[in-house]
Amino acid sequence: MGKRITTVCGDIAPEQLGFTSMHDHTFVDLRVTGKYMEAMFPQVTHEMVEFKPENYSFLKTGTYLMCPELQVVDDLEGMVKEYGYFKALGGQSVCDPVPSTGRGDVRKTKALSERTGINFITATGIYHETAIPQEFRGQDVKFYYDYCKGQIEDGIDGTDIYPGVLKAALATGTDTENNAVEACIRLTAETGLSTHIHTEPMMDGDEIVALLDRLCEKYSVDHDRILICHMDNRIAGSVMVTDYLEEPETDRTLDLNLQKTLLEKGYNIGLDTWGMPVENSNFFMPDDFERLKALITLIDLGYGDHITLGNDFSSKLMWRAYGGHGCTRFITFGLQMMEMLGREEQIHKLVYDNPARILAY
Ligand SMILES: [Zn+2]
Repeated sequence: MGKRITTVCGDIAPEQLGFTSMHDHTFVDLRVTGKYMEAMFPQVTHEMVEFKPENYSFLKTGTYLMCPELQVVDDLEGMVKEYGYFKALGGQSVCDPVPSTGRGDVRKTKALSERTGINFITATGIYHETAIPQEFRGQDVKFYYDYCKGQIEDGIDGTDIYPGVLKAALATGTDTENNAVEACIRLTAETGLSTHIHTEPMMDGDEIVALLDRLCEKYSVDHDRILICHMDNRIAGSVMVTDYLEEPETDRTLDLNLQKTLLEKGYNIGLDTWGMPVENSNFFMPDDFERLKALITLIDLGYGDHITLGNDFSSKLMWRAYGGHGCTRFITFGLQMMEMLGREEQIHKLVYDNPARILAY
């Protein structure tokens, strides 16, 4: 039997996948994260995070998850319109690697697929420590393994919708996070499903590499079955903001060391937060020119076979309906600039070949 890809509407052949975003979301419920943030920032009042245009710029500093209207995304009609823009640009499939602990109604993702004709692949798995309900924290590997295996075998939330990828997260590398990563990699060994790992820019790169190397060896998993997400979030982070401002000779340069290390070892990485509306004065977040330069640099070093793209489309602040770039920024900025540079051939690997290879099992 040939390999298959599991979508929310059933299995398809890898050849049916087509032009794919590897990291964009549909329906989410991030109220748990909101609760943690409210406790962390008591000085932020309800008025400051009310969802209205006057507050958009403050919400973009990272406080958007403290806004009740932005914690839950359940608007099917709005989502049909947003993904319509993706389809109009040639988009055929979307991997929505939403952890089970932050998922909205998965039946709506299926309805979205039926309405738009786009294939959606969803996930089973656990998000990072400060974004999951209490009962998911501090558990052992077997707990997370059993939980994810249950969704793979029985469907998600009592439906006949099955996950097509495994998802874990490394924000700071707590026992919870490390155990969830181990559970996913063990399931990758047993099922063939790929494991996708959310990362936060503050997590130590050497620790990420050491953990993944150790677990892939323990369960005999090929590094090519792992996709490490959000690797574009750290390319501008090596220069301290204070040094940049106070030392005229200090420049902002791309730091691609971790990305190169992972790619050299055969892991896949996601440059998947194009157009992300996060502005922070404490550390540098990359802009899309830097993302594109990182992408081109890594392709020219010979790593184009292991890079995937996406926008991490989730918050309504990213919706076109609310003034954002929508779920098309990696196309309208990244790929169109690559075409301008005569790099059409390289695009095919990023949005056709690599997604199909990673998602097929
Ligand atoms: Zn995401």
